[in-house]
Amino acid sequence: MAYGPVSLDPKLPPIRINLFSDAQSKPTPAMRDAMQRAEVGDEQLGLDPTVNELCERTAALLGKEAAVFLPSGTMCNVAALLTHCRPGEEILAHETSHILTSEGGSHAALGGIQVFPLQGANGQFSGDALRAAFRPVSRYAPKQVLVSAEQTANIGGGTIWPKAQLDTVARIAHEHGMITHLDGARLLNACVATKVSAQDMAADWDSAWLDFSKGLGAPIGGALAGSRTFIDNVWRWKQRLGGSMRQAGVCAAACIHALDHHVERLADDHTNARALARGLSQIPGFDVQQPETNLVFFAIKDGSMTTEKFLGEMRQRGILLTTLGGRIRAGTHIDVTAWMIDQALDAAREVMRAA
Ligand SMILES: *Cc1c(COP(=O)(O)O)cnc(C)c1O
Repeated sequence: MAYGPVSLDPKLPPIRINLFSDAQSKPTPAMRDAMQRAEVGDEQLGLDPTVNELCERTAALLGKEAAVFLPSGTMCNVAALLTHCRPGEEILAHETSHILTSEGGSHAALGGIQVFPLQGANGQFSGDALRAAFRPVSRYAPKQVLVSAEQTANIGGGTIWPKAQLDTVARIAHEHGMITHLDGARLLNACVATKVSAQDMAADWDSAWLDFSKGLGAPIGGALAGSRTFIDNVWRWKQRLGGSMRQAGVCAAACIHALDHHVERLADDHTNARALARGLSQIPGFDVQQPETNLVFFAIKDGSMTTEKFLGEMRQRGILLTTLGGRIRAGTHIDVTAWMIDQALDAAREVMRAA
C-alpha cells in the first residue's frame, strides 16, 4: 500500500506540476502572512491563544465539545485509538484504511491493539459487512471496541461515504456498544462535494478529526475532536507521543487561515480532478476510476507500458505522480491549476502514444 518512491536524481528536470499528493501544496503568501502575525504562547500549558482558537473552531465545526491540536493526521488517529482502546482489544476498519496500511503498526506497537480488516468496494464497508465481522462474545475472542471509517476513503479512490451509509454503520456499532471514530483527513472535501455540513457528517461519530495539511493547504497539523473527557484523556497520549508543542500558534494560524479561505475552493480541486480523469479516460491504455473528490486513481492496462516507465516518463516532463494501493494516484490541490491539468494530459498522451 506504500507510496511509490520519489527519485531525488539531481539530473531530473524540476517538478512543474506536483500531483503526488494534496499534502505537497506550499503555504500561500497570505497564509504565511497569517503565520507571521500569529499571537503565540506555550501550547502544552494551554496558553497559546491561536491554538486555543483553532481547537474551538474545530470542535464547533465538527459539533463536538472539545478538540486538541496535533502535529499530524497520523497522530490524530494514533492518539484517538490509543485513548479509546486497551491492549488486546480489536478495532474494525477497512482493509485499505490509513490506520491499517500507513501508520507503521502504531496501534499494535504502542497500544497492543489489533485491527480487523473489513472488505468492501471503494474503501467503504456496509452495515452487513460490519455485522458479519462481529465476534460472539466469549473469553476466546478479542473484545471488539471500536469501528473506524475514513471520509473520504483515500485508497478507495477519494470516495465519499454516502451520509446514510455512515449513519447506518455508526448506528450498528453503537447498538453493539462500540465506539465510533471518523478519520477526517479529507472530510471537508466530502462536505464541499455533497453540501452536507461537517457537523452532520460527524454527528454519530464519537471522535473525528480534520487534517489541515491535505487539501486545506496548511504546512502542518490536524485537530481531533470529541467529548471533553475524551479530549482530556487524549492529552496524556499527546504528551507521551511527544505531540505537546510550544509556540504552535504559528502553525495553528495557518490552519485557521485555511478554514477561512481554503474550504470552498476545494470544489476547484474536484473540478480539476474530474477534468484530469476525463482526459485520461480518452487516452487508450488507461483504466480510470471516476473521481468523487480530489484524488484520481488509474492503472495502465496490461501490455501497453509498465507503471514505473510511465511515472518515469512523466517525471522527465516535470510531472510528479505516485502509486498507492497498486494504482497510480494523482491528487489535485491549491497549487494545481486547470492549465496544469491540460499540460499533464498532453504529456500523458505523448508518453502513451510513444509506447
Ligand atoms: C494523510 C492521511 C492520514 C494521515 O495524515 P498525516 O497528516 O499525513 O499524518 C490519515 N488518514 C488518511 C485517510 C489520510 O489520507
